[in-house]
Amino acid sequence: MKVYPGFLTPSSKPFDPVELARITERLVCRNLYRKYTDFYATGVYGGIVTGYTCGCCLRCSFCWVDWSRDFPEKYGRFYSPEESFRMLSKAADNYGTNRLRLSGAEPTLCKDHLLSILDLVERSKYKLFILETNGIIFGVDEDYVRKISEFKKAHVRVSLKAGTPKDFTRKTGAKGESFELPFKGIKNLMKHSCSFHVAAMSADPRIMISSERNALLGKLAEIDKNLLTSLEEEVIDPYQTTLKRLKYAECKIEWPLKKIYKPIKL
Ligand code: SF4
Repeated sequence: MKVYPGFLTPSSKPFDPVELARITERLVCRNLYRKYTDFYATGVYGGIVTGYTCGCCLRCSFCWVDWSRDFPEKYGRFYSPEESFRMLSKAADNYGTNRLRLSGAEPTLCKDHLLSILDLVERSKYKLFILETNGIIFGVDEDYVRKISEFKKAHVRVSLKAGTPKDFTRKTGAKGESFELPFKGIKNLMKHSCSFHVAAMSADPRIMISSERNALLGKLAEIDKNLLTSLEEEVIDPYQTTLKRLKYAECKIEWPLKKIYKPIKL
């Protein structure tokens, strides 16, 4: 990879997301330290404190994360696992919640940092730790998933972006061959009995036509039909960064959203 990829444009060249993960780690991980942009509480999941990690291995055109996703060398600051945990605890106690989360960009980068935080959470008073991921790293590193399975407070949310290899490249910038990796990640999570559920940007007809949605649902059903009962289907929100990224990718989308797909019935 000669140039570090930022937001997608029509001339973007497809990249290998595993290679991008390793290159990004050189920018956002330093021994056990990892870059974050912020820590604060939000109302999602009924109230949760979130650490916003810096750097990702995909370049989704509908991504809401701030510009630290595209330019991780310019944003955020390094925190040790203990400092990150302290920031999460402080915000959780101020807000009055016992739920913690890592989100923003890709929290599974910097493996040793994440495992150290999970260890601190496991021994703490907090009840739940939600780990949001695009599933790429869990598709190539089964040992990582096995280690995550040892933490009983950890719940993983795998967010799928597309239903076919071609759409995966169009929306994330990653090579079509890597489309299977998040599904492999899901299989690894099942194999090691991790607590997890799947989310997908699949409720929004503006970004996913129905044949692509059917392909995505079919792939999940092939792995396990039960994945469909807990599937969290999402729509795009008009964050400023999302609108800019869609514009740079020349992806025309109408606002406001007029209809969404009906939830699946099994
Ligand atoms: S939506 Fe998630 S996976 Fe996609 S680029 Fe943004 S942070 Fe990365």
